[in-house]
Amino acid sequence: MPSSLNVAVIGAGVAGLLAGRELMRAGHRVTIFEKQNQLGGTWVYDPRVESDLLSLDPDREIIQNSLYSSLRTNFPRHLMGFSDFSFTKIYDDPRTFPSHEEVLKFLNDFAVHFGVNELIRLSTEVVRVELLTDKWIVESRSGELSQEEVFDAVVVCNGQFTEPRVANFPGIDKWPGKQIHSHNYRVPEPFRDQTVVVIGAGPSAMDISGEIAEVAKEVHISTRSSSLLAKSAIFENLKQHSEIDYVDESGKVAFVDGSSVQADILFHCTGYKCNFPFLKTNNIVTVDDNRVGPLYKHVFPPALAPGLSFIGIPTAVTVFPMMELQAKWISLVLSGQVLLPSKESMMTDTEGYYKSLEQHGLPIRHTHFLFPTKFEYLDCDLSFIWTSSKFSSLRQCREKRPTGAARLHCSESSRINLIILFTLKIF
Ligand code: FAD
Repeated sequence: MPSSLNVAVIGAGVAGLLAGRELMRAGHRVTIFEKQNQLGGTWVYDPRVESDLLSLDPDREIIQNSLYSSLRTNFPRHLMGFSDFSFTKIYDDPRTFPSHEEVLKFLNDFAVHFGVNELIRLSTEVVRVELLTDKWIVESRSGELSQEEVFDAVVVCNGQFTEPRVANFPGIDKWPGKQIHSHNYRVPEPFRDQTVVVIGAGPSAMDISGEIAEVAKEVHISTRSSSLLAKSAIFENLKQHSEIDYVDESGKVAFVDGSSVQADILFHCTGYKCNFPFLKTNNIVTVDDNRVGPLYKHVFPPALAPGLSFIGIPTAVTVFPMMELQAKWISLVLSGQVLLPSKESMMTDTEGYYKSLEQHGLPIRHTHFLFPTKFEYLDCDLSFIWTSSKFSSLRQCREKRPTGAARLHCSESSRINLIILFTLKIF
């Protein structure tokens, strides 16, 4: 492999900025394609919402971002920085869990500090990525201009929070009320005096249900989780229920636990679908119920590695540090400093992982959901990257990993710290 490669990075969100920085540092020639007119991805607030609030209409204009106006981070700023560029500077908002505006300023500073902003082609959408013999063709569009370029490698960093997943249950076709997905939520005012059923129990559901409870008549959270939600203790008009059993034409929403409400709005906080509309791999990489695969350690498709890689696929992790590790790994591999196992070994490892999910009764859609194994992934699977110059392969690194007790100690302390920090945000 030549020492300096021509690498395309798709997206200038956190993942793309990190990929750009690592690859540039390693001496590669990098082009970051970004379809929006500024960097930052998720953290660029867009007050517009889509014409179809469930985002099902194929002809709608797609709005890339899903931030709501009041959003503050769900990690403290200290967990949203990078190993050599910490998020300690306070721009306007001194809170531990800063606003989205603060994160965007931090990312802009990061890009300027490392010169990554020089690598970005704004308002340029990648519409096709395809392997031709051993090179990658990247077709992009910028206004009227369309062009095809050839790259040695492609790093996919297009973000996974644009294409909503919507819940489905009996009676939904005849239900007369309004429906919205959190992708199209910006401010609580449209929910004033309404009875709202929020579906989901992830971070968005928790944040948004508390926010709309301040103006809505009633908020009912429907969740598979049996744990008591802290916010139902804070808001008198907020109640928790089990999953929805059915809805009907009278506006009734019936829950599996036997309770029911007459609701005005069904609010889907049900997450997003992974989507790579530009990627043509002859079905080597597929998306099946949100499993992007096969991907070795959620990054490299064995048959196409190292030329094709992905950053930011795992969820329920401390996102920024994880993406930094993934970006470093990709850069080290492309630079020949770290060797990947053989294609067969990567495939065996990946299939073994899928099998273990099945044995634990976990659905396919949980493939990249790393909780509670996220610390294993960061502490162990990717930790070798920090000292990678000493190792030439993942196998060697695995041999050097700390043993059980030390690993457990490390993971437990990180976990306890996180629990304390999450609790702080609730108050
Ligand atoms: P994105 O930020 O989505 O960036 C992808 C970029 O790729 C975008 O700029 C997009 O325009 C561009 N792109 C896509 N397709 C193309 C194409 N074909 N051609 C060119 N460019 C393209 N994480 C946290 O750590 N803390 C939080 O508090 C937090 N809160 C969140 C709240 C919400 C509502 C959401 C939706 C996500 C939140 N996240 C949070 C997760 C957050 O998305 C990640 O932290 C991270 O910002 C994702 O970065 P990314 O680079 O993978 O994707």
